[in-house]
Amino acid sequence: MTNSVFAKDALLPTGWSTNVRLSWNDKGRLAEIETDAAPPTNTAIAIAKGPLIPGMPNLHSHAFQRAIAGLTEFRGQSVDGQQDSFWSWRSLMYRFALRLDPAQMEAIALGLYVEMIEAGYTSVCEFHYVHHDADGRPYADDATLALALMRAAQRAGIGLTLLPVLYQTSGFGGTAPGEGQRRFIRSTDSMLRLLERLKPLCDAQGARLGLAPHSLRAVPPEGLRQALVGLDAIDATAPIHIHIAEQTKEVGDCIAWSGQRPVAWLLDHADVNARWCLVHATHMDADEYARAARSGAVAGLCPTTEANLGDGIFDLSAWRAAGGSRGAGGVWGIGSDSHICVNAAEELLMLEYSQRLATRQRNVAADSGQPHVATAMTLAAVQGGAQAAGRLDPGCVAGLAIGQRADFVVLDAAHPSLAGLGAADMLSSHVFASHRTSAIDSVWVGGAQRTKGGRHLLHDSATAGFVAARTQLLSTT
Ligand code: ZN
Repeated sequence: MTNSVFAKDALLPTGWSTNVRLSWNDKGRLAEIETDAAPPTNTAIAIAKGPLIPGMPNLHSHAFQRAIAGLTEFRGQSVDGQQDSFWSWRSLMYRFALRLDPAQMEAIALGLYVEMIEAGYTSVCEFHYVHHDADGRPYADDATLALALMRAAQRAGIGLTLLPVLYQTSGFGGTAPGEGQRRFIRSTDSMLRLLERLKPLCDAQGARLGLAPHSLRAVPPEGLRQALVGLDAIDATAPIHIHIAEQTKEVGDCIAWSGQRPVAWLLDHADVNARWCLVHATHMDADEYARAARSGAVAGLCPTTEANLGDGIFDLSAWRAAGGSRGAGGVWGIGSDSHICVNAAEELLMLEYSQRLATRQRNVAADSGQPHVATAMTLAAVQGGAQAAGRLDPGCVAGLAIGQRADFVVLDAAHPSLAGLGAADMLSSHVFASHRTSAIDSVWVGGAQRTKGGRHLLHDSATAGFVAARTQLLSTT
């Protein structure tokens, strides 16, 4: 079995290096990284067909929503007085969520995770909130749907951070949950029992387990406090993710309830630190940008979903200028969230373009150390994604360094957009100029090659399973 690859160009944490040989051990962790190596004469060493870049952690996914991607792109009825807003999208998503069975969940997630790997993601944070059966009753095994997601990740071969979601109310101030939310609702005790059940199973699979209080509108202060205390008793380093400040309505409702904006409230009422991922954090004032960045929390940006839902534009320059805990600017990563787009390169493109449109400048996410914006963004998003996944330490997914997993993507140097260019320009073309064709040759997770010629080894069966599950769901929705 191959445990070594040679690349003419590879993107290491310090930047581009040439003639790089990566070797990994039988656990799939990088054991040796040699630069300026001689090209191999030994056929046991794979030769990369183009620049080798680190695999991208996807820090925010709701797997089942892949089945409704593309189904809400028409003008519909207004909800809460708003025409075609996030809230009208949510009502269709709820109708779908209410029909889903465990086999469909697994089939949709498997199809999605295969797609993710083909698109350059090598691990995923699954923000998992459909817990119960269609009537809102716990399954005989309360972990049924979580286990379906874990099986899908294992079959696809993608790294997993499982984040069961605490969801208790439908609005600020303890508003009772709606009928459409019955599959999501849990007491804090039942959540902690679920985490206790899942912890050894995640450990055995090499997955990370964390907790996702859904949002401040869905978890009252006391539930949040108790859940965080309970989580610490299970794993005091577990990642914590929360949706926050995605919508201006949510900001207004939070101010009406507490007198504070959501991020400011959270920073004042929870010990927000580097374990946290603030998903979206789209609507912050200058003080919130500064304080949240300094906390060390990751900004979990989902640019194509935020664009699709009309959320607003995150101010990446303010975040980076605010200074994170490591003194290198606020930490951020990317997620595909609703899966309107499953493509790591396209998330980076959308993020950079939103900044260009807002600021009328170019190459906004570049920095003095990395003037090539696609290179700078890739390195930043891998680090931030790994931190959000709770997988930053050795044995984890924080880029091409000794001890990290051998998670990497090989670009196709023969792709028309890349051919004949230098390595940094090839990555730029992959992100900005591949014209929605894939310039990925192969993807490796933990040293195992998962795609060949751009296709995952399970591509055909996983795709067929996904389409069948979506067809079933559509016929009953
Ligand atoms: Zn989300």
